[in-house]
Formats: sequence, C-alpha cells, structure tokens
Amino acid sequence: MHFHFSGHLLLAFTRILVFKGNSTFVQNEVIPANSDILGSPIEYLKGVGPQRAELLKKELNIFTFHDLLNHFPHRHIDKTKVNSIRDIVSSTEYIQVAGTLHNMDVVGVKGGRRMVATLRDNTGTVELAWFQGLNWIQKILQPGQQYLVFGKVSFFQGQPQIVHPEMELLTHEKPEGKSFLEPIYPTTEKLRSKALGGRQIGKHTETLMKLISEKDVPENLPDEILKNLNLINRFKAYSQIHFPANMPEYDDAVRRLKFEELFIAQLRMARLRSQRHHFSKGVVFEKVGKLFNTFYTKYLPFELTGAQKRVIKEIRKDTATGKQMNRLLQGDVGSGKTMVALLIMLIAADNGFQSCLMAPTEVLAQQHHNNITALLKDMPVELGLLTGSTKAAGRKLIQKKLDDGSLQILIGTHAVIEKAVQFKNLGIGIVDEQHKFGVAQRAMLWEKNETPPHILVMTATPIPRTLAMTAYGDLDYSVIDEMPPGRQPITTVHRDERDRPKVMEFLKSEIARGRQVYIIFPLIEESDKMDYENLMKGYENVKAWFPEPTYWISMVHGRQKTVQKNTNMQRFVTGDTHILVSTTVIEVGVDVPNASVMVIESAEKFGLSQLHQLRGRVGRGADKSYCILLTGQGIGNDARERMKIMTSTNDGFIIAERDLDMRGPGDIEGTRQSGVLNFRLASIVQDKSLLEVARRFADDIMEADPKLSSAENLRIRRYFETNLGKTAWSRIS
Ligand code: ADP
Ligand code: MG
Repeated sequence: MHFHFSGHLLLAFTRILVFKGNSTFVQNEVIPANSDILGSPIEYLKGVGPQRAELLKKELNIFTFHDLLNHFPHRHIDKTKVNSIRDIVSSTEYIQVAGTLHNMDVVGVKGGRRMVATLRDNTGTVELAWFQGLNWIQKILQPGQQYLVFGKVSFFQGQPQIVHPEMELLTHEKPEGKSFLEPIYPTTEKLRSKALGGRQIGKHTETLMKLISEKDVPENLPDEILKNLNLINRFKAYSQIHFPANMPEYDDAVRRLKFEELFIAQLRMARLRSQRHHFSKGVVFEKVGKLFNTFYTKYLPFELTGAQKRVIKEIRKDTATGKQMNRLLQGDVGSGKTMVALLIMLIAADNGFQSCLMAPTEVLAQQHHNNITALLKDMPVELGLLTGSTKAAGRKLIQKKLDDGSLQILIGTHAVIEKAVQFKNLGIGIVDEQHKFGVAQRAMLWEKNETPPHILVMTATPIPRTLAMTAYGDLDYSVIDEMPPGRQPITTVHRDERDRPKVMEFLKSEIARGRQVYIIFPLIEESDKMDYENLMKGYENVKAWFPEPTYWISMVHGRQKTVQKNTNMQRFVTGDTHILVSTTVIEVGVDVPNASVMVIESAEKFGLSQLHQLRGRVGRGADKSYCILLTGQGIGNDARERMKIMTSTNDGFIIAERDLDMRGPGDIEGTRQSGVLNFRLASIVQDKSLLEVARRFADDIMEADPKLSSAENLRIRRYFETNLGKTAWSRIS
C-alpha cells in the first residue's frame, strides 16, 4: 500500500513538471489525483521497475499503463486444468502440466549453450529448455520441487520439448480471484526469458486492474447506443477482456471493444467526409452545356443504363456545389465506367475546365484515347495522349496546349501526374482501374490546380463493401450495379491438361465462326525468367495447334518495346489476328467485343480478382462467351476453391467478398498502405455486420449533430478531444 501512495505522489509530481510551462492550465484545471493514471510510465507499475519496463517498451511497445491495458490476451486457459504429460501429441500447441523437476543441466557451448531439465509426472517426462537468462533460471528453480509448467510445445528430434516454459512453484492453494480463466498474452522469446512470459504479463495487468476504476476508463459511447446494441460499459469491458469469469463475459467484452473500434473509425471517416462537404472549396461545374448535349443526343452509341444515369447525376450534383468531390466509383468489369468518365469530362469542358483520365497501363491509355477519339467523331474537343513513351517534342506540344487551355481532355498513364505536367485549369482528375494507383498519387492530383480538382476514382474490380467503408471510407461512394443490356452471361469452366485437345478443338470451332480468342499465361513478375520461358514455350505450343496461314496469332508481353506491343495488340483489336497470346498486361480494361473465348493457362497461379478481371475481357459483344480455366491435375485446396468460385458466379461483388474471406484484408491490393485497417480486435472479414452497424450509427450522428454538441454526444466529443486534440471537432464549426 505504501508503494501505491508514493507512486501517486510521483505521478502528481511528474504532472506538475509537465505542465510547468503552462501555468494557467494547471491553475484552472482541477486535476483529481489519479485522473491520468493510465498515462503513467510503465516502470511505475508495482512489480515492473525500470529493467522490465525497458524490455516491455522495446519488445511490445508498452510504454504506459494505458498501453498495458490495451495489450489484450490472445487466449485464456483454464487454470484448474492440468494435463498429463502423456497427453502431449504432435498437434499439441500449448499445454499446462505439473510435475517434479529433475536433471537440471547446462549443455552445449557458445551459441548452442542452453539449460535443460526434465519434468516428470506419473505418466511420463517432457524436456524443458532455456536459451537465455540461464544464471537467473538456475538461481530460482529448484530440482526436486513440484512445478506447474505452462508453455508452447515443440518437437526436437522427435521428442516433445517446452522452450522457455513458465514455471510456478506448485502450492496447494486454490487459484485466486473469481476467475479460473487465466489470460495468456502475446509476448516474445526475449520477454519469456525475463519472467515476462505469456501468462506472467497477466500478473502486471492484474496489478493494474486493481489500481484503476471506472473513472479512469470513462465511457465514450452514448447511453442510447449502449442500450440499443446491448453493450457493456467500457470499464467493465476492459476488466472482462482480461479477467472474465466465464467465456460469455469475455465475448461481451470483445464485442463491446470491437464496436468501439469500428465506430470511432467510422465516425472519423464520416467527419472527414462531412468536413469536405462543408468546407473544402472545389471548382464549380455550373451547367450542362453544348458539348455534353450534342454528344448525348447525336453520338451516344447506346442508351445509358439506369445505373450509369444515376451515377452521372450523383457526380453532377457534387460538382455543382462548389465543394470538392472525392468519389469512388465501383462497377463490375464491363459495366460501362468509361462512358461515365467521358460524359463527366464533357461537362467539365462545357464549363471551361480541363480534365484528365489516368489509366494504369500504356495499352489501356492508348485504347481509351482511340475509343474516345472515335466516339467524339467531329466534335470540337481537343484530346491529348501522354504516356511514358511520348517523345519530347510531343510532350512539349501537349504542355503548351495545357498551358494555354486549348487541350481539354488529357488521357495518359501516371506520366500525367508528374510534377512537370501543369494544367491551366484542371477541373477533374479521373483515375481508372484504381487498384494500381496509390493514395499518394491521388494526392498529387490535388495539387494540379489552385482550387483542388474533383477526383473520381474508378475501381478495376469491385471492392467488398466493408473494405470500401474502411480503406476508402473518406470517399463518397457510387456504384454501377447494372450491366448493359443484351449481355449473355459468360460460361466458365475448369479443365485440366487431359482436356487440352478438346479445348483446342473448341477454340478452332469458335474461330471458324468468326470469333477471336485470348490465351493468357501467368507472368506475374515481368522479370521472372521461368514464367517468361513458359510463355515462350506456350506460344510455340499454340503455334503448333494453330498453324499459319489458317490461323494468325499475335503476342504481347511486358518485355516488348512499346511500339511492338501496341502493333501486336492493334492487330488483334482490328481482327487481323485470331488469337492473342498475352500476359496479364491486358488484364485491365482492354475492350475487343468480337473476342468470345478467354483461356487462362496455369489458372491456379492467379488470384480471384485477377481471374475475374481477365474473364471480363470477353462477353463484351452480343455473342455467347466462354472462359476456360486450365490447370494441372493436382492443384492445392485454395486453388481448387478459387476455380470453384469462378465457375459458380459472374458477379464481381460476390467474388470480391470471397477473395476477402480467403485472403484477408492485408493481401488485397492497394489496402496495405492504408493504415485504417489496423484494428486491434475487429476484423472487416469476421465483423462485417458490426461494421455496418457502426457505420450507420456514425452516419446518423454526423448528420444530426456534426459538432457533437448535444448532451448525449458529449462523451464522444470528450473522447475525441483527448485522443485527437482539442481542435479536432471544433474545426467543423
Ligand atoms: P468497364 O466498366 O469495365 O470499364 P467499359 O467502360 O469498358 O467497362 O464498357 C464495357 C463495354 O460496354 C464497352 O464496349 C462499352 O462501349 C459498352 N457499354 C457501356 N455502356 C453501355 C450501355 N449503356 N449499353 C450498351 N453498351 C455499353
Ligand atoms: Mg474500364
């Protein structure tokens, strides 16, 4: 008790030192003795001390009481359950056994020096081993005594072993406290050897829990939400996640803390959106003018789908407000995003603004340029194409026309966002097939105009809603959820090597009907030598099946010169070749409506979204189309599952969901750097519905009370102020 007292004195003292430079604050604010107890450095926790504190900081980033409180156990074990040593089998992970310690001995030399001992109960023996802290261990462990031993089982030369076990001298007292569930914490080998093992950390957490009370962990959610969702209060949640009396208590705690995590994140996103809506300045597209109207009435080659119309309206509404638009446009492969982009760029031109459309590859940029040129026919719109391979003279001319404003629409690759490229008045930047563009690159677009241009990001393949809400939660969101009419669903089949002759015959029959065929080889890394050799072998193989002059084949891959790549691609686009052998350079966006079969070689090597992207290259015309996934016979379970998903649905949104389920968010392209997915407890895969609920509550609150000034939202406001700084919410007013 004495220690606690002096500990508090010390804390109070530290606080005064910290606030010395700000005396008004100290005088005006009445700080209760331990209001900021969670901010205390971890060394001040009884039983920790400076040495262990150093280790906790270094190994686990635990600097303060608060950090320790938020270091959650990854499992609980039933303290009362002691296994027999005989129970250890090859699949055993963690085990708790009790027995007598024998044969303590230091063996090996230098790097291999370790201490070993045998633990024996009446069913058998298990070896214990320590590689670090030998002196200390030798001092505290006594051979002949009975120990309760907990640890991770590994096998050394076929024999079970527990390395750096947690040892407790066996007493016959009953376990303390209300709970028999003992928390086991994530830790490291290093900490294990210094008495900070997975269960020893819990002793410190226990000390901490006894020290704090409800006022140290104040509620941050409104009562209404707690009641509505049946959530336990915050302090209780923290005590129960560490020391539950039973598993339902633990589950309640986890659910409460997960919700808090998701809700706070969603509220921040909602706030960013709201701030942008209220305060960001954007260029105004006042009217829909002559260019748009002429194109729409005279040249539009088809009726827009209802979804396309709706999305254009949404964008139209945004860009007329004087606020900056930041919008994510989702639409499945082939849903007609390009036309939406073109129509918006015409509106920009109608209002005297320039626009740019960025594509992830040279082939795609070229194709957009060709298509849009063809669509606009004789309309007075000046287009430009800028890619990495644009020559200096061409570059100069484009820059001149950008400067004087005569160039209205610039299409290109990431070359477009380079610093050197300057616009007279960029009104909107459209990023096509977004997953290849990073967040930082998007930000570069913002700087292209004094008033930041509107940004429209179009996805390559659908992103699951939960991912969109988190990774892109600060963006507004539109979705094209309707395909252009007259499309026949693509038939997808999975075939293996044995079926190759049949598959090739089928291709011949399609070609005989005037159709064209893609054959894709995996070349994931363009530099991968083996993949490259496979591609070349594959090409020879295709040539053998389809000899000239009955059949014409062109090939594109990333190692070709741009000119060659473009020529070969162009020959397929114009129908001069029957077959395009290609790597994934054609993955996104390429549009050849006459192509009706997509063959994917070694399909097991591709991810789901890539397969879906590739499949989207066919089924663009009125003809029945096919996607044939060719694999070897013995493929792994995951690959088999992917093939099954591909053959069972054409819906990109469903595929995206399954992709997320199978791979987890960390592996979904473009999300890794986003940071927003670093939840402590929540998972956007497992906690989908909780996330939806959090989003709904966050949106409702932002709508009703954007300043968080009402009494019921005071708690959230306080929380944000202490955690994000005093001005966090007031910036809104
Ligand atoms: P994505 O959304 O994958 O970028 P595209 O914009 O390339 O799709 O469109 C796919 C194909 O559908 C193109 O050939 C395009 O001309 C056509 N298309 C787009 N919108 C419509 C529509 N409303 N009706 C008919 N065809 C359309
Ligand atoms: Mg596209």
